[in-house]
Amino acid sequence: MKKKDVKCSFCGKGKDETLLLIAGIEGYICDKCVGQTQQILQKEMSPGKTDDDLKSIKVLKPIEINDFLNEHVIGQDFAKKVIAVAVYNHYKRINQNIDDGVELEKSNIIMLGETGTGKTLIARTIAKMLEVPFCIVDATVFTEAGYVGEDVESILSRLLQVADYNVELAERGIVYIDEIDKIARKLDNPSITRDVSGEGVQQALLKLLEGSDVLVPPQGGRKHPEQQLTKINTNNILFICGGAFDGINKVIAKRLQTQVIGYGVHKEKDKIDEENYLQYVTPLDLKSFGLIPELIGRLPVIAPVNPLKRDTLRKILTLPKNSLVKQYQKLFKYEDIVLTFDEEVLDYIVEKALEFKLGARGLRAICEAIMTDAMFELPSESRVKTLKVDLEYATTKLSRIDTTKLKVA
Ligand code: ADP
Repeated sequence: MKKKDVKCSFCGKGKDETLLLIAGIEGYICDKCVGQTQQILQKEMSPGKTDDDLKSIKVLKPIEINDFLNEHVIGQDFAKKVIAVAVYNHYKRINQNIDDGVELEKSNIIMLGETGTGKTLIARTIAKMLEVPFCIVDATVFTEAGYVGEDVESILSRLLQVADYNVELAERGIVYIDEIDKIARKLDNPSITRDVSGEGVQQALLKLLEGSDVLVPPQGGRKHPEQQLTKINTNNILFICGGAFDGINKVIAKRLQTQVIGYGVHKEKDKIDEENYLQYVTPLDLKSFGLIPELIGRLPVIAPVNPLKRDTLRKILTLPKNSLVKQYQKLFKYEDIVLTFDEEVLDYIVEKALEFKLGARGLRAICEAIMTDAMFELPSESRVKTLKVDLEYATTKLSRIDTTKLKVA
């Protein structure tokens, strides 16, 4: 065969129509066909779910979902309740088989609250419960198509990857979009240039959130003409957005105050809890904060989470199935060492976490600081069979490290 007649034996494309032709004993294969066969292989070989499993995900009732969440997430009762209902309705909608013309709308969720209060944990726990693919993406990395940064479609590439490239499975997954507040429109932005990472990204997200066919580069990154794209329908993908929404308290407070003045009455039962304005958040406040109305419309379930108080933090240390104390005990059990913490130590850890204003995220950083020496030394000390962490041990270990470092942990 003459060099210029060389063709892909799978799709028949000639040398000049492909980027690369790889020679085999009997013929050739082009780069596109390699990509496609890889996807077919991954789909066929992934042990995952059978077609029957895919047709219906076994969904627990809202109260059961809430019970499951309770095993992992402490407090946040309101958020857990609305999310349990939203998730139940979402999967009921997917499994619906009554064709009476009534179409159940999608119940994407938006969670608001300080960092380290359990937003991601709630989303992750729901995905674990349903055994569906789950991925976390950060809204700040996205920019409008054509600008430096990632296209929003790469969210779905991520989901596809977690689903082992099984499109059907990915189409029933859950995506957690973190830091959604960071793409709010900057109202006080004096620049007349386009708000590249704000409103444009919100616009781009609409398409994914509402449910449509989206062409996705399976390996992520930016779309380019040579890339094979995979079609994913987002109709049944549950999107959960989360963000701290710093400053929204003021927006809510202002609205509530004008309302009170407007009506001229201030009944005792309507007394506003000024410690936690977030519980009163409405779609209007999200709009004032800089989310576009179309996006808010596609996030009908609003779930505010509360700042974590002392007693909640204390429970987080020991109660969840996967609590920090249980995790450290398990680590030491590998060494046949029985680890215990004095009650005072747990109170002290909570005290420090509150002091550093790190939410539950701080608990981990502080425990790590206290436990690192023991985790380093004890595996080599075969005679040590118990470790009792008392207040003196904990304060000494914590005093040796630069606690300002914890603040960025
Ligand atoms: P964020 O609200 O910023 O998404 P995360 O859910 O990532 O916070 O919380 C960070 C870690 O803190 C979690 O992995 C978990 O260990 C712990 N945590 C936070 N809030 C809770 C909670 N309400 N109950 C139990 N653990 C929690």
